Amino acid sequence: MTASGIEALPPLREVLTGHGLLADKRFGQHFLLDLNLTRKIAHLAAPLEDAVVIEVGPGPGGLTRALLAEGAAKVVAVERDPRFIPLLEEVQAASVGRLTLIEGDALRVDEAALAAEHGPGLRPLIVANLPYNVGTPLLVRWLTGPFRPALMALMFQKEVADRIAAPVGSDAYGRLSVLAQATSEARVAMTLPARAFTPPPKVDSAVVVLTPLANGPPAPLLAALERVTGAAFGQRRKMLRSSLKTLGGETLCAAADVDPSVRAEVVDVAGFLRLAQATISGA
Ligand code: SAM
Repeated sequence: MTASGIEALPPLREVLTGHGLLADKRFGQHFLLDLNLTRKIAHLAAPLEDAVVIEVGPGPGGLTRALLAEGAAKVVAVERDPRFIPLLEEVQAASVGRLTLIEGDALRVDEAALAAEHGPGLRPLIVANLPYNVGTPLLVRWLTGPFRPALMALMFQKEVADRIAAPVGSDAYGRLSVLAQATSEARVAMTLPARAFTPPPKVDSAVVVLTPLANGPPAPLLAALERVTGAAFGQRRKMLRSSLKTLGGETLCAAADVDPSVRAEVVDVAGFLRLAQATISGA
């Protein structure tokens, strides 16, 4: 493994001070400066030797360093804040060609094209300590879009992480739970207190590991699932016959063999998939 150059880099706090960089709230910047911790997160996505890892928001590069030190064949890091690029170039110089830096908005990149260009033949993964303001839209896009990573290890606010993995019937169960669990095996793998970050956010965080199912729902069914869950959980206090009215109400529920008098939170993932299928089949 060619990790020695990475491990010889100066401590992150020193690098941030040296570059005169302070966190900018607009970009949801809360940094992990403890390299033991970032190493543990990177390890959740192991093995990395045959992987191209897309990292969103490398910031000062703690997780980037960890991914490289854990042996990632290739890391493609997408950072929106240009202030971090010079500092990340120092990590790149130590990476012996294993790190590509992209300055841009992760909501606008083509992950499949990046993986194919920078890591052809490698297993595509996504590992990120996500900025709070774009974490959920990015996850929905990765769950339902055309890019299918082999695994994702993603840091969210703990409350969002709990929603992703929530079981049916629980308070946290919602649209995100259904979309995540219909497409992936999802588990909360690690919880971190707010004080682990610099500056500390207001809430705790957690890493979710999502392993997309080999034979997950096809694109049209996923699009229908987004519509059905959007309607059902958009009015989660109402019975399905009412919240799903515009999509077929009672008739739709009958076609999907789902009780129209229940609320969304008690319908399991299989039930939502049947409802989505019924909207396509024209119930
Ligand atoms: N990975 C670093 C760490 O763990 O210390 C930083 C994590 S910080 C929570 C989120 C990072 O995402 C910041 O560096 C921020 O500038 C970057 N960011 C915010 N919005 C972004 C976007 N739309 N596209 C790419 N990066 C973004």
